[in-house]
Formats: sequence, structure tokens, C-alpha cells
Amino acid sequence: MNPESHVRAPSPIPVDDAVLPFEVGALDLRGRLTKLGPALDELLTKHDYPAPVGKLLGEAIVLTTLLGSALKFDGRFILQTQTDGPVSLVIVDYQAPNRMRAYARYDAARLAPGLDSAELLGRGHLAMTIDQGPDMSRYQGLVALDGGNLEDAAHEYFLRSEQIPTRVRIAVGEEWRGGEDGPKHRWRAGGMLLQFLPKAPERARQADLHPGDAPEGSAAHVVAEDDAWIEGQSLIQTIEDVELIDPDLSGERLLYRLFHERGVRVFANQPVQAKCSCSREAVSSMLASFAAQDRADMVKDGKVVVTCEFCSSVYEFTPQEAGVE
Ligand SMILES: [Zn+2]
Repeated sequence: MNPESHVRAPSPIPVDDAVLPFEVGALDLRGRLTKLGPALDELLTKHDYPAPVGKLLGEAIVLTTLLGSALKFDGRFILQTQTDGPVSLVIVDYQAPNRMRAYARYDAARLAPGLDSAELLGRGHLAMTIDQGPDMSRYQGLVALDGGNLEDAAHEYFLRSEQIPTRVRIAVGEEWRGGEDGPKHRWRAGGMLLQFLPKAPERARQADLHPGDAPEGSAAHVVAEDDAWIEGQSLIQTIEDVELIDPDLSGERLLYRLFHERGVRVFANQPVQAKCSCSREAVSSMLASFAAQDRADMVKDGKVVVTCEFCSSVYEFTPQEAGVE
């Protein structure tokens, strides 16, 4: 290998629970690829979600990983859906550089077999909140969830809010691998975010997906998309779910498979982990912020018990510790 060229073969070693940033200079594309294994499994199995709910929450976790991992310093990215479907609430909280927690609220009685993620969500909205710390303003983007899935909502969000041509692919699957006592169930997932960032902004014009309510007969507003972005979109569409989930296919190999004709440059992997940020101190100060009567109402069998909805940690307080008079 020529040390001057900075070119090497793609690593065959798969890296789970990490985000791999990459760049395809020839097409002005940048992106991030993630493969999630044990961290995803921990987030989902802690709650013992029914499989379709686990899959939907897994999709939200992949999307959050792709977006949250772009944050600098101690930022925070929160993805939240509120909808009228069997899964009424999904929340994924990403704290830079690498901590993530998640949960979903669902109505078990409405979980009919065969419902896909879009049907589980129903209609409502998706909110994405970026909090870059106390000195920065908080940003929130909202998109309607209108019978589509999270990939659709992400595309709508980027088209409306960021105006950066963006495509997202998300896949979540269940893996059964042999252990000594028979095959073990594990959740796995993967995803890719691809963005077109040309130096000349006019090249980033996008065709409007929804012409809206233009009067009938009026000429459609036709925007020709840039050839490089057309190529990028057609490449990301060729990724199969199994390639994103496959524990034996490294992210570098997958990127090479897609972009080798144009040349792809990868950056250092960023690890992510399942880790809740709750603590006894945080719960205690939350209790202190409640009205005295609400605190008093929480006393059961002589104690106040608070369970973290994200990680199911249980915090017990005496009425005195909880500030009950
Ligand atoms: Zn917690």
C-alpha cells in the first residue's frame, strides 16, 4: 500500500453500537452509518416490549442515533412522537457525546397482529428538539405524522426545516443465535443518513414533494435535481434491510459496496451506549418542584416510590426525605 495515498481496504471487522461518519467527495455527499447491537438490545429488552413496539422504538432509536451523533459538545437531542395509534408516545433522548435512553407508551389492547410501524403510530406529530446547553437557544422542529413511518417523517423534516437534501434508511430486526441453551433472541438495527452538501447552494434545490393546493391547471413548479444527488439517492435506495442489520457485515464494507466507484472516505467511529441519566438527586429535586399536596398524595405504605420510565430504576424515599409535611 502506498502510504502517501491514504487509501486502504475497507475493514472487515464489524463495529456495533457506533456511528461511522463518511464522505463521498466526488458527489458532494456526507453521511453517517450506524450499526446497533447490544446497546439497542439493552434499551428494548429492559421493557420487554411486544415485538412490533420494540421494532418501532428501535427505528426511533436509529433515527435519533443518526441525528444526535452530529451534535457538538454537551448537546442533547430529543425525538418524540405523539400520535393517536396503539403506540401513543415514543421518546428517545440522546445526550452528546454518546448516551442514549428511550421508551414507548402503548395500549396492549390495540396491538392487533400484523400492524406495521406506520399503523402503530397513527396520526399526530413528531417533534425533534435540539438543546445545545444553557447558553444556546433551544430549537424544536415539528412534522406531521400522517400515516407514514419515521423515514417519511425525517424526509419531510429535512425538506421543510433544514432544506438540506437528505435521505434516511432505517432497518430493525430480531436475531436468533445459538447459545448453549438454544438460540438467544437479540435486537439489532442499522441506519444511514445521506446528505447532499454542494459548495454552490443552487445545486441543492429540491423538487417539492407536495405541490400543495395550487389551482387546477396551473403549471407544476418543476425543479431539476442535481445529477450527483440523483445518483446519491439511487445508491442509498439500493441498501437492503439485511445489510443494515447483518452482524457480520462491517459498516466500512457496506459503504465500499455502495460507493466504491466514486471513492468514499471514512472518519473515526463514534461509540454510542445505552445509559440513563437519572439519579437519586435528580428525582429528589423533581419531587421538590411538586406542589406539597401532590407530594403528600404520593405516599403509599409509608414511602414515596418513583420509577424512572426510561430505565425502570426504582427510587425510594421516606416521606420526610420526599419533603412531605
Ligand atoms: Zn433512568
